[in-house]
Amino acid sequence: MALAPVAAEAGRDFIRDIIQADLSSHKHKQIVTRFPPEPNGYLHIGHAKSIALNFGIAQEFHGHCNLRFDDTNPTKEEQEYIDSIQADVRWLGYDWGNKLFYASDYFERLYEWAEGLIRAGLAYVDDQTQEEIRLTRGTLTEPGKNSPYRDRSLEENLDLFRRMKAGEFANGARVLRAKIDMASGNINMRDPVLYRILHAHHPRTGDGWSIYPSYDYAHGQSDAIEGITHSICTLEFEDHRPLYDWFIDKLPVPSKPRQYEFARLNLTYTVLSKRVLTQLVRDGHVAGWDDPRMPTLAGLRRRGVPPAAIREFVKRIGVAKANSVVDVGMLEFCIREELNRTALRRMAVLRPLKVVIENYPEGQSEELEAVNHPDDPSKGTRRVAFSRELFIERDDFMEKPSKKFFRLSPGNEVRLRYAYFIKCVDVVKNAVGEVVELRCTYDPATKGGSAPDGRKVKATMHWLPASQAKQAEVRIYDQLFAKPNPDASNFAADLNAQSLEILADARVELAIAQANSSEPMQFERQGYFVRDPDCAPDRLVFNRTIGLRDSFAKEIGKG
Ligand code: ATP
Ligand code: MG
Repeated sequence: MALAPVAAEAGRDFIRDIIQADLSSHKHKQIVTRFPPEPNGYLHIGHAKSIALNFGIAQEFHGHCNLRFDDTNPTKEEQEYIDSIQADVRWLGYDWGNKLFYASDYFERLYEWAEGLIRAGLAYVDDQTQEEIRLTRGTLTEPGKNSPYRDRSLEENLDLFRRMKAGEFANGARVLRAKIDMASGNINMRDPVLYRILHAHHPRTGDGWSIYPSYDYAHGQSDAIEGITHSICTLEFEDHRPLYDWFIDKLPVPSKPRQYEFARLNLTYTVLSKRVLTQLVRDGHVAGWDDPRMPTLAGLRRRGVPPAAIREFVKRIGVAKANSVVDVGMLEFCIREELNRTALRRMAVLRPLKVVIENYPEGQSEELEAVNHPDDPSKGTRRVAFSRELFIERDDFMEKPSKKFFRLSPGNEVRLRYAYFIKCVDVVKNAVGEVVELRCTYDPATKGGSAPDGRKVKATMHWLPASQAKQAEVRIYDQLFAKPNPDASNFAADLNAQSLEILADARVELAIAQANSSEPMQFERQGYFVRDPDCAPDRLVFNRTIGLRDSFAKEIGKG
């Protein structure tokens, strides 16, 4: 599949054009869409595309969007998923008002309509096994074979269907099928299954039903009952559209919705399949549905991704009719853009190295002013304490600097952000020869970061006062998958073994430790970070949302 281009004009697409035309021609007065998740897993960023499309259209065209749970398969569906889906849609910034529905709300009506199809000679009870049905369905090039039960009498069909409903038969013993055409060129029209027997407890209807409708039978009829005008789904349902229309045509439905298909979101380094995501959780490859490496909305939220970044991403990729794969760099670009604008700047040292300023008096301390956001003075400033003992980043020191290393090294002078120039005069090592402390001097005349004699330094580094730096655990994430196009059928082989790095002994400034908030922050020179829910009164844990580097910005000529 080709890499998707960046949408030239965000926000306008073929579906919105169709809707505009339907409004202009007065085919519809009010637009009604729906987002129809099956509560068998958590929502992922692919769903965000569908949510933004359906709810976005409703907003833009002054209609409304229903949230409808497609709860027709009780063996896979759980209340936990129903709750998480609602929380995630809200978090993304969308609101269904009082339009919360369930396909199970319509079970009675769907059943009545199925009896109607039987009476009209358009449905029959088939006693074949699932396997027999599969084997007689034919292929793309060969027609299917009629079931030996296809021509049962109307009375026998009604009787059997009612007994299926009453729970008289075992799971899989019989199904109700539409009587359409086993020779149809479209396999979906070869007598599709409308009902299957399933003795299973349903989260909402309890043990009330022993038969459950198929997706195809439930979906369009639910749309019609809710007065959905535009039923927008992903491309794999294109071949189901003739069946969708067949039901709408044959049943006494209260409205006539139309189905439109768009390309689903695919992302590099990412698998957007609920089956695979469920497996990742069940097999313990990740810590849960909200593991910050997961492409789930819960994972992205825990990672610190702002919902506005996801909305912007979805807007930029646009809505097309051809499948493609979007570069995950595009999502990262949107996250950085949003966080750069909103996140407060802070200082943290991820891998600390102690520095002693030899000419700074013991017991003395002073407060320096640090800005909270370089582009937004309204975000104010804060005070950072400077004293004799500091921490710097271990990577910012090299005892024998390589050619292009301009940061701290013996004899070299650098700037400490918001503070002074310092120079390294000695290196302290432990018994095995590792550097454990640097002895430095500072130049009191360089307060605020510039020298009165005009001398320059080539590096500005972040730092922390040792006495006020709080210990924290910092979790650094990389792509969950090592390959740009992970194999969904054998995903475990493509997992990135280095997707999580834990820095157990990082240090953060007081303003970070004291801000008891889930607002994202920029740790200067390190990236964007957010508090993790694992934080406790005596424990600080941060997730790195994303690093600062942005190669994708260059690629698309921005940033
Ligand atoms: P499955 O049907 O296998 O459980 P699903 O991802 O289709 O998986 P649904 O709960 O049926 O799950 O999806 C709800 C809606 O989200 C559907 O309309 C579906 O088309 C849409 N959707 C799912 N995945 C994507 C994606 N990657 N990009 C865009 N829309 C998606
Ligand atoms: Mg689906």
